[in-house]
Amino acid sequence: MNFSSKLLENAVNEVAQLPGIGKRTALRMVLHLLKQPKSQTHNLANSLSNLVDNIKLCKKCHNISDVDVCDICANPSRNEEIICVVEDVRDVMAIENTSQFKGLYHVLGGKISPIEGVGPQNLTIESLIEKVKLGTIKEVIFALSSTIEGDTTNFYIFKQLEKLQIKTSTIARGIAVGDELQYADEITLGRSILNRIPFDKSF
Ligand SMILES: [Zn+2]
Repeated sequence: MNFSSKLLENAVNEVAQLPGIGKRTALRMVLHLLKQPKSQTHNLANSLSNLVDNIKLCKKCHNISDVDVCDICANPSRNEEIICVVEDVRDVMAIENTSQFKGLYHVLGGKISPIEGVGPQNLTIESLIEKVKLGTIKEVIFALSSTIEGDTTNFYIFKQLEKLQIKTSTIARGIAVGDELQYADEITLGRSILNRIPFDKSF
């Protein structure tokens, strides 16, 4: 691609780094950003730099948050004896949308994936085990997507928790294998949380 402007080329190259965005699409987006009122593009740029400069991970559950302890963890009406283990913030949002879960979350930040170079040490597994060792938690629910990586991660954590003699369960899926949690419809997902099954009966 031959650009008439270095500034344009730089912007397109940055946008093209985003997943699923090729150079052509990036060029279209950047031209759109140039065409719209300047203030709108400034708002976009400001909100992104604000985001990366100020976003935090909740100290307790590792979910994305504006404050040190997120609203869910800080809510006294949530049941701190039940922890739902999820991959990322999208799963928390999906489960919250069902209004069926009143416990707390633990956000792993990904799944074990040797192909992508993600090992247990790259996730917040250690912190989950430490949390369980404190003794307040009575049940850990696995709500990772049923992909090979999800199953591997569940099993890895299950093995760590087995020694601690804690109740472990997994969400009963009306969800086809390989489906990502956040794409499940709310009713199915809500029901699968209520009808969860003991983890060791799930395989
Ligand atoms: Zn939290």
